[in-house]
Amino acid sequence: MGFSTDAIHAGQKADLETGAVITPVYLTSTYHQPELGVHKGYEYGRTHNLTRAALEANIATLERGKYGIAFASGLAAIHSLMSLLKSGDHVIVTDNVYGGTYRLFELIMTDFGISFSWVDTSDVKNILAEIKPNTKMVYVETPTNPMLTLTDLEAVANLCKEKNLISVVDNTFMSPYFQRPIELGIDIVLHSTTKYLNGHSDIIGGIVVTGVEKIHERLRYIQNAAGAVPSPFDCWLTLRSTKTLAVRMDRHNENAMKIAEYLKKHPKVKKVFYPGLPEHPQHELAKKQMSGFGGMISVEFDTFETAKQFLNNAKVFTLAESLGGVESLLCHPISMTHASVPKEKREKFGLTEKLVRFSVGIEDVEDLIADIEQAIK
Ligand SMILES: *Cc1c(COP(=O)(O)O)cnc(C)c1O
Repeated sequence: MGFSTDAIHAGQKADLETGAVITPVYLTSTYHQPELGVHKGYEYGRTHNLTRAALEANIATLERGKYGIAFASGLAAIHSLMSLLKSGDHVIVTDNVYGGTYRLFELIMTDFGISFSWVDTSDVKNILAEIKPNTKMVYVETPTNPMLTLTDLEAVANLCKEKNLISVVDNTFMSPYFQRPIELGIDIVLHSTTKYLNGHSDIIGGIVVTGVEKIHERLRYIQNAAGAVPSPFDCWLTLRSTKTLAVRMDRHNENAMKIAEYLKKHPKVKKVFYPGLPEHPQHELAKKQMSGFGGMISVEFDTFETAKQFLNNAKVFTLAESLGGVESLLCHPISMTHASVPKEKREKFGLTEKLVRFSVGIEDVEDLIADIEQAIK
């Protein structure tokens, strides 16, 4: 089936009891067992929930993976991946990842004996150079947050297969509508469903998708044993939201392209980071591995004063953390999402106080551009 058809139908059947077209929210912690040792495959809410199972099947289909494993947040999903490893293992990570991922790895997982190499994965040679005898996993974010640097997913998948490493991609920024790493040979895709997949800024959630049975078995075990499961209602909201993912993503993409074009001509803008612009250094790779460029733009203003004035005066754009919702948001990464990343590290990849990140929503683009214009003036 096509993407939009799957987005609306995959994982969902009419309710057996009533014929309800929409999968119900199964608010139950336990299930009746008619006889000792006999049940319908549902025993306890942490282990089994039908609303959650429907969401997992839906997103797994959209990512073209076989299995989805849902978690209470994107970070809980990432944390579950760390449980695939053992003390003494080593992971190679994209240097400019989501700030919370950096915090989890460097400030928590290192206490458990897992070590990390932070490398610029936009050149696969840098990954190869860091592989050690104890390397077990390569963890990539593309495009990165907030610099929008790309990593060649096919090259990473091939390298990991050759070296017997688990390949992981955080696909939050693109959503499966624009990028499907599993089709390119990647083992594991994860999302903060808080962002585009849910898209309405009203839940916190995460999911891991894989096509590899052994990884699925272990993650399913971890999901139940560690217990960071999402609520049935949050699963239901996300399942409702993926139905409109295709139309939302098209509009995010269209609006972001127009805003990037506008910003690039603005006299107070020094640089626009958007993979859809022909001057993006990896525009060709973007066209090869993505079917759209998404709704995220980063902008370097001429001075911090301009950036601050813009952030304080925007009216349609809201100054807030997070991204991927229908409403447009602005973020100042160094004081908000990336505050826990050390200064030297940030400056290495150009993350300065003049940088503002835009999550372009699906409002009328004329209103968004007019808002930018009035706020900078
Ligand atoms: C938000 C985000 C996360 C963390 O997800 P939460 O749902 O906030 O826990 C991970 N990766 C990326 C790229 C994100 O944007």
